[in-house]
Amino acid sequence: MFTLEDLIKATAGKLISLGEEAFRGASIDTRTITENDLFFALKGSKRDGHDFLIEALQKSCGAVISKQADISFQNKTVVVVDDTLKALQNLARYLRKKFRGKVIAVVGSNGKTTTKELIAGMLSKKYKILKTEGNFNNNIGVPLCLSKIEHDTEIMVLELGTNRHGDIKELCEIVYPDYAVITNIGYEHIEGFGSIEGVRKGELEILPFVKTVFVNGDDGFLMEGLKDYKGEILTFGLGSQCDFRAEKINFYDDYVEFDFCTDILSFPVKTSLTGIYNIYNITAAAAVATFLGVSKCIVQKVSELFNPVAMRGEIIKINGMEIFFDAYNANPSSMRVALEELARRKKTRKAVAVLGDMLELGEFAPVAHEEIGKWIHELGIEVFVGVGTFMKNALRYVKGEVFDEPALAAQFLKEQLTGSEIILIKGSRAMKMEQILDILLEQS
Ligand code: ATP
Ligand code: MG
Repeated sequence: MFTLEDLIKATAGKLISLGEEAFRGASIDTRTITENDLFFALKGSKRDGHDFLIEALQKSCGAVISKQADISFQNKTVVVVDDTLKALQNLARYLRKKFRGKVIAVVGSNGKTTTKELIAGMLSKKYKILKTEGNFNNNIGVPLCLSKIEHDTEIMVLELGTNRHGDIKELCEIVYPDYAVITNIGYEHIEGFGSIEGVRKGELEILPFVKTVFVNGDDGFLMEGLKDYKGEILTFGLGSQCDFRAEKINFYDDYVEFDFCTDILSFPVKTSLTGIYNIYNITAAAAVATFLGVSKCIVQKVSELFNPVAMRGEIIKINGMEIFFDAYNANPSSMRVALEELARRKKTRKAVAVLGDMLELGEFAPVAHEEIGKWIHELGIEVFVGVGTFMKNALRYVKGEVFDEPALAAQFLKEQLTGSEIILIKGSRAMKMEQILDILLEQS
């Protein structure tokens, strides 16, 4: 909760009409607005929030923050500012500065949302936490999350996303993290960053803000970027050099078991999450949780009961066929780990890789897609079905079919599948690879 006084102080806004003086949080969407929320009228590429001011006021929001001075509603709080997005960010920064608890920021190329959810799940059994919802990790989603700080919030777990230089710094100047978790550095958003060195530089913009970082100790390229960092470095991973380690990993049909170890403790952890990469995510979360005093039992329980975040490594079994549904997004690094997991899971079954284009790779795109073909071939994956223009490049190294639309690929699959295969479905968000799953499920 915060007051009108806080709002005016934080935004330097001009009060032009007075109603409510205490607020619960902020919203930018009248469809999800709740009572006593502030409504910030943001101008997007398609819509302008200023067209929804009246609707917001009618929906009993607490106040509207607008750029237009000509709106006033009797008994409603209206604050006018020069820039509504900056006002939202300034309010978030103001609330963060008043917040006495700890802030954990999760950055990195892959696994942020999963790791954030795991950390939040573990910490929430001991602390009152606030977390970024879903994948709301940008300069709007993160401030909206901070607007929901409550008087008894103890820890915030925030995912910070980036697709170009300066993003992480900008977010850190709002959330001022105490701890950073850096999952890994991989080929993502190369279009914005120019190179993998650029990605690392962008993610490591967080370093000057934090005194302690939890980092993937097996990611040599990431570790190299920390050589001048003067704060505390706590590493997680599989390697024996890591401070928080996963040891004795055993894969079973539907779950994985390993020992979570530090130099002074060791206990077994079980999870149904797929892939070695999720062992990294769990180990990162367990490292943060145990560091903050969460008990072994809680770490075990949360790891065991945790379900994959939607579209990220879900296992769907239908009529003897297994679908490894990982269609939330894709970049070369996450494609690589997903293909490895497909190869590991396949056993005697025929493996089918149904892959959509990886976007935002700039000039690197053709080569990156060629590599996918190479990996499919090397990993012994029997069938390749692609969707998109770039995926045609994979055909240089592997035989297969590439379609322009997910629906056409699904049609082809329907005709080819015998019902005993294991199928990976993955691609960039905009490729809408979930349509393939829908079509396959429809006919089953
Ligand atoms: P985004 O950049 O879209 O926010 P994210 O970093 O939040 O992604 P998740 O949403 O947790 O990552 O996972 C997305 C996909 O990345 C997963 O479905 C999986 O394919 C892959 N992935 C998850 N964790 C890891 C990891 N630790 N290392 C490599 N790849 C991973
Ligand atoms: Mg995410």
